[in-house]
Formats: sequence, structure tokens, C-alpha cells
Amino acid sequence: MKVPFLDLKAQYATIRDELRSAVDEVLESQRFILGPQVAALEQDVARFCHVPYAVGVASGTDALLLSLKALGVGQGDGVVTVPFTFFATAGAIANLGARPIFVDSEDASFNMDPKALELLLEQGCSAGPSSRRAHLQSRATVKAVIVVQLFGQCADMDAVLRIAGRHSIPVVEDSCQAIGARFRDKPAGSMGALGCFSFFPSKNLGGAGDGGMVVSGDKDLSDRVRLLRTHGAQPQYFHKIVGFNSRLDEIQAAILRVKLRHLERWSKARQKIAGEYKRKFQAADLLDRIALPEVLPNRVHVFHQFVIRCQRRDELRSFLSERGIETEIYYPVPLHEQECFRYLGYQPSDFPQAHAASRQALALPIYPELTGEQIDCIVSTIAELLAG
Ligand SMILES: *Cc1c(COP(=O)(O)O)cnc(C)c1O
Repeated sequence: MKVPFLDLKAQYATIRDELRSAVDEVLESQRFILGPQVAALEQDVARFCHVPYAVGVASGTDALLLSLKALGVGQGDGVVTVPFTFFATAGAIANLGARPIFVDSEDASFNMDPKALELLLEQGCSAGPSSRRAHLQSRATVKAVIVVQLFGQCADMDAVLRIAGRHSIPVVEDSCQAIGARFRDKPAGSMGALGCFSFFPSKNLGGAGDGGMVVSGDKDLSDRVRLLRTHGAQPQYFHKIVGFNSRLDEIQAAILRVKLRHLERWSKARQKIAGEYKRKFQAADLLDRIALPEVLPNRVHVFHQFVIRCQRRDELRSFLSERGIETEIYYPVPLHEQECFRYLGYQPSDFPQAHAASRQALALPIYPELTGEQIDCIVSTIAELLAG
């Protein structure tokens, strides 16, 4: 049996007519950039996230870039984040001339360890200019924290917001993998100063190309993001600040509005599949050989990925691949070990959890259309290698 890692065609088949008529409407309108569909999607996403403001942008990466820029992050500043994340989290920091300052993740969730954040801000920093924290090692002023809601589950937001808040450091939520997730009753993206989403096709809410969104409860910040996405112009041709071209287009917005109506149902299907994996791995008596993703207290996990840990990860991955089962490694090289960040001076052992995760983590297929038979096949093939 072939099991693709992701099967977007299966999803498309279920909403084909809705999508085609939505796209058709845009084509008939011949309005392609930042029109009524984008405005409507912004309202839909704001409502979905329980926040008053949402700004459509060109990608999740740009959502991060514009958020940091709106917070005044620039040359020589420091932004704290985790090394175990998709590259864009730190790439956005570096592209503004700022310095990524890493803190490790927790073992259980792969998310930012609040104790590591606290240690960095209390002991790795001193009181800097205008009562901000200054990173001792680089002398960069810490202007923001980016917390990543990795694989579809929120970090411990109570702790992260409390620790950053103690020093009035704004928190940006990289919720690119977590639309629909919750911490307590709060939607991912709604808890920090700004929340960032990606509509990359493989995300839980994916378009037919690139797209992203910044949500916020803060009018001034969201106005600034809005300004930044159109070269800082308001009105057109009158530039208050230097911005970017980072616009969302009407076809993406029309498609995303259709898909947003199905998102809750898809998230429930992902949760159900995660439950099936758990039952079947338990039944196969494999839980001493692989560690399953944990849903931590106060979380609604939307399982963008289903990431297991296994000491024999690489061997397991090839074994599955030879039998037609596709898996992925998120992420094989943590950011503190990337060549482009060598200048930051980190050692692999500086972040042992991130380092270990990069060696052990294996993402198994998870998408609403994955069948029970396919899950059986995945579990029994893993058992074939690891059991006994
Ligand atoms: C996908 C992703 C991004 C970037 O989103 P793009 O739309 O691909 O630019 C940023 N951070 C995380 C954690 C992501 O998963």
C-alpha cells in the first residue's frame, strides 16, 4: 500500500465545486490584489481568532518580517526564539539586520521551554538602554520574543507571556502551523502582541500558492503592518515609512475563505487520526520504542504534524520508504547549527533538546483524508521493524 506524506488531491476532490466557483468569481471580477475577498478573509480570520484586526500578507515569512518591523526591530537588535523550528522564524529576524538569540525547547512538546527563556532574560541579559534587557553575549537589546506554536500545539503561553511581560518585551506568535489550536480558551495567534499565519498549500489552512496573515488585538500595530505591506504608502504614493511589497491576492483569499469554513471539521479529523495512531501503537506494544506526541494540559492540538521520536529514526524512515510509506524529518538541522548562523557562535550542545529532536523526530502522514487502512499499514510496518 502506498501512503503519501500529504495528499492534497484527496482534499481538493471534496471541495472542488466550491473552490472552482470561488475562483471563477474572482476571474470575472478581474480584481486580483487586495480587493473585497482579501478584506472578507481578514474579517473571517479575525473572527476565527477572536481578535479585532487581521492583515493579509504575501506569506507566513512576511507575516513574521512585517510583525517584527512593526515592533521596531531593526539593525543590531536581538530577538529571542527557538532553534527547533522552520527556518523562516529566524530568517525573518536576520533579514531585518537583527540577531536571533536562541533558547532551547522542551522535550515533551518540542516548544519553547519557558525556563530557558527565563534563564536567558534574567541571567543572560542585563539592564540595557531605556530599561530593556541587553543580551550579555552580543550586547543586542532584546526587542521581541517569537514563540513558535510548533506542529499544531501551543507553547506554555501563560509562562512565556508572564516572563516576557516582566520586562515589557512583546511576544510574536509564529502560529504558522497552528491555526485553530488553543491555549486554554485562547486561539493560537491571539495571545501575543501579533500572531502570524501561513497559508502555504501544505499548512492546515492552505491556499493555491503563497499567502499569510498577521492578527492582532492592537490597532496601532496592525495599522503599521497594513502600511508596511504596501511600501509604507498612505495614501498611495505618499510614503510614511519604507515598507515592502507583501500583498495577499484575491484568488488566494477566495480559496482560503472556502477552506476556512471546513477548517474546524478538518482539525477534528486530524485529532481523531492522532487518537487512532495512539490506540494502534499501544495495541502493537510499541510505546517503549517510540514516543508519541503529547497533548499537554490546557491545549487544543490541531496536529499540523504527527511527530514521533525514535532512537532508530533514520533506519525507520528508510524502512518505511522502501515499503511505500512517506515520512518527513522536521527538522534535520536545528537553526543554531545552520551554516548561515555560524557567526552567532553557538555549539550543537548549547541546545541539547533541539539537537536531540533533530536526530529523533519523524513526522508520519496525517491529514483528514488519511484512511484507517493506511494508519494500520503504517503502524504494522513500524512494528515489523521495531517490535520484538
Ligand atoms: C510555514 C512556516 C513559516 C513560513 O511560512 P511561509 O508561508 O512558507 O512563508 C514560518 N514559520 C513556521 C513555523 C512555519 O511552519
